[in-house]
Amino acid sequence: MRIPLPKIREVIEAVGSLFSRPFTNGYPFKPLVPPDGFRGKPEYYQDECVGCLACYEVCPGRAISYEDNKETKKRTLTYRADLCIFCQQCEKACITEKGIQLTKQFELASYERKGVTSTSIKELVLCENCGEVVGCIDHLRFLARKVGPLLYTNPTLLLARHDELKLLEKERGANSPHPRAGHLKLLCPNCRREMIVKEQW
Ligand code: SF4
Ligand code: SF4
Repeated sequence: MRIPLPKIREVIEAVGSLFSRPFTNGYPFKPLVPPDGFRGKPEYYQDECVGCLACYEVCPGRAISYEDNKETKKRTLTYRADLCIFCQQCEKACITEKGIQLTKQFELASYERKGVTSTSIKELVLCENCGEVVGCIDHLRFLARKVGPLLYTNPTLLLARHDELKLLEKERGANSPHPRAGHLKLLCPNCRREMIVKEQW
């Protein structure tokens, strides 16, 4: 039987590798810095998030959930790393482009049942008539600034903007109720429609 001889190229590579640095990195004994574009754990940035729920809507892994608490008037968005597939859809869909961003964090083992999490807590606006959730105040203000003069076509955005500018109390009249006070209330779409049709508040 004829024994195959090693090819010259393999011999050169084998000998050369004895004197060159290893191709593997030193992790976990040395810290590993992932390359740019690496899709690690998403993180909420509360100051940039307006609580619009776009990230929740697009998340294919249902790794993002939210809870509205009418008592405390808070909306809590929660991200769970154990359900995340690191697709980056949440970051791409974020209306402020900075509310949730993927980091380079990849060591996500945890003893917690929900795994590693990140949360954003935002203030809710409740309908002044029926108490239903209208949205987050930061979301309304963000939209009001975004649409500019068009906000005069939407009473809720207009009132949210005037509230931010501290004009709302003045318009409502602290001591003398406005004759059409319903127009100066932050209402859910149902109550707004009813108020406009019946003109009774
Ligand atoms: S990266 Fe993908 S799976 Fe993970 S939270 Fe964002 S949208 Fe959901
Ligand atoms: S602002 Fe961005 S991070 Fe906040 S709820 Fe909307 S999409 Fe999610």
